[in-house]
Amino acid sequence: MTKPNNKSLSINKGSDPADSVNPNFRRTSVRAKSKAEFVEGIKKGNRTILSQVITLIESSKQERRALGQQILEEVMPLTGNSVRIGITGVPGVGKSTFIEAIGNRFLQEGEKLAVLAIDPTSSRTKGSILGDKTRMATLSNHQNAYIRPSPTSGTLGGVARTSRETMLLCEAAGFTTIFIETVGVGQSETTVHNMVDMFLLLMLAGAGDELQGIKRGIMEMADLIAINKAEKENLPAAKRAKKEYENALSLYPPAPSKWKTPVVTCSALNEDGLDDVKANIEDYLEHIKANSYFKKQRSEQSAWWMHETIREKLTSEFYGNPDIEEKLSKIEKQVNKGEISSFAAAERLIEVYKSIS
Ligand code: GDP
Repeated sequence: MTKPNNKSLSINKGSDPADSVNPNFRRTSVRAKSKAEFVEGIKKGNRTILSQVITLIESSKQERRALGQQILEEVMPLTGNSVRIGITGVPGVGKSTFIEAIGNRFLQEGEKLAVLAIDPTSSRTKGSILGDKTRMATLSNHQNAYIRPSPTSGTLGGVARTSRETMLLCEAAGFTTIFIETVGVGQSETTVHNMVDMFLLLMLAGAGDELQGIKRGIMEMADLIAINKAEKENLPAAKRAKKEYENALSLYPPAPSKWKTPVVTCSALNEDGLDDVKANIEDYLEHIKANSYFKKQRSEQSAWWMHETIREKLTSEFYGNPDIEEKLSKIEKQVNKGEISSFAAAERLIEVYKSIS
């Protein structure tokens, strides 16, 4: 066994990380360049090079990953100057339609937009957030937009870390607005929440919270709730849902940002209500910049990622160690049979790990 036996935290082994779906950005050989050329390329906002460095960061080969890390370290002073917005909701709620429509509004104002996806269920062949060209057709062809599909293998922690690093690389390359899309299936929202300035939850009216897989904790994290597909015969239900969510939110304790989460209705397909959504995004950002929560949240997130990276690295080194791998399967069987307690087994393995590392 090479990874924690928890399906919600692990992802099927996938093929090589996906490249940008934007056909404007040609693929050239990664190996042909020196570190300095990569760094220079990022600084100049060269998107082909950006894609190549992200591929290094996502690589399963230690050597390539290390080069990616060194490049990231060099461009770190150029990061942090964007607005980071997380967008979540169950598959089918309209995330890609919404991102395409609202993303175009940001582009019209001269923003440079990167859309990154984190999909813990993804592999190349199955998954909810697909990296194909049928999604976000206008954005994927726009000169000032960059779309990067979810990395396809590794643990959620690993995928999220590479996504955070990708976000930083995009900032260094001059992107001013970053959307991080994640599918509403639980665990991934917490992770995304820890890398964005604003968390936006898309919902459907009449589907029921349980049906939508929306847990209370996720609503609590939201800085804005938009009920999508609010048009025609759906409109009365959407308005009712708006009231219900507003009532539910009023029972929550005040958020640390001191922001009262608004609930709006919209139709991403008909582009109705999107100006209102955008105005709410702007109001929120203004609010948290004015009361310094923006800065506070980012510094807390940096610390969170340090701990997360330690946890993730230690776990993967532990489970990836050949000696541990061998002993683990034996001890696991003993635990299954009740011959040894889970705690004693864990202690024993950790002692073994300490003695060999
Ligand atoms: P995602 O899985 O959350 O990314 O959802 P998609 O954006 O792929 O949308 C799923 C389906 O819902 C597609 O057929 C969209 O055309 C449709 N859809 C998205 N937004 C709306 C909307 O506002 N109204 C209606 N009626 N359909 C929508």
